[in-house]
Amino acid sequence: MTTRLYTHPIYLEHLTPTGHPERPDRLRAIAQALQDERFDALDRKESPPGDPDAILLAHPLSYREKVEAAIPTEGLVRIDADTSASPKSWEAALTAIGAATAAVDDVFSGAADNVFVASRPPGHHAERETAMGFCLFNNAAIAARHAQRKHGAERVAIVDWDVHHGNGTQDIFWHDPSVLYCSTHQMPLYPGTGDRHETGAGNIVNAPLAAGDEGEAFKDAMRTRVLSAIDAFKPDLIIISAGFDAHHRDPLAEINLVEDDFDWATGELLERAGRFCSNRLVSLLEGGYDLQGLATSTAAHVSRLMKG
Ligand SMILES: [Zn+2]
Repeated sequence: MTTRLYTHPIYLEHLTPTGHPERPDRLRAIAQALQDERFDALDRKESPPGDPDAILLAHPLSYREKVEAAIPTEGLVRIDADTSASPKSWEAALTAIGAATAAVDDVFSGAADNVFVASRPPGHHAERETAMGFCLFNNAAIAARHAQRKHGAERVAIVDWDVHHGNGTQDIFWHDPSVLYCSTHQMPLYPGTGDRHETGAGNIVNAPLAAGDEGEAFKDAMRTRVLSAIDAFKPDLIIISAGFDAHHRDPLAEINLVEDDFDWATGELLERAGRFCSNRLVSLLEGGYDLQGLATSTAAHVSRLMKG
């Protein structure tokens, strides 16, 4: 099993206000964890530049122009209540898209069986025309569309285990049965969407969890809602919106997952990638705000990806 890792120093230059949870140290913590010798076999690559036109796979031109025009020449600018941009944010966001689309290319060409992308800013809260929740562009949605347009994928499944609901991904694919969007998340919690009755064109599967839930509730939601939906959908590609803020140490939520839960979920999705997708699986970092919990959870996830 070949697992590729994409990351890039530009991601550290997307700056947020002092004290903001979505900070460059998140990627430093992941990089340090992945220095361990058990990751020696990782195929490490620097993220390639992104094509601005790839943004248009999930967002209108007017939105791309609005974000680009908002990027400051110095200091920080607030794009929404909790989403900021700094002078290098455009390049960082574009390079996150570059890695997400390259990861899709890699699993379709066979250059890698699966790929993990350690990038920022994250993407799953970015709606078609709205930046929010630390996100500018929806990396997972762009990757899914890229797989369809460039590689002829007919059905793409996006599994989002970030502790927050991916309202942006749900918004973008609400009317599109060719993309299955499945999410486990704490509810109620930001952004407020993700009720199980939100089903789109029958392609949206929400499996909300309650504050205090632990691994067994997460596994039950995955088995009864998410994995069963994937089995019925038979995707050509699985994309994971891999947030690690459902870890018990995370300061932004109250779900109590441990590293083994992420290992388990990764294994279940790999098994389905093998069964339906010729192993093709792309995992994109979303949230995770406790540096230790983020690092150990990411290590468990990537380690499992390498085992296949
Ligand atoms: Zn989150």
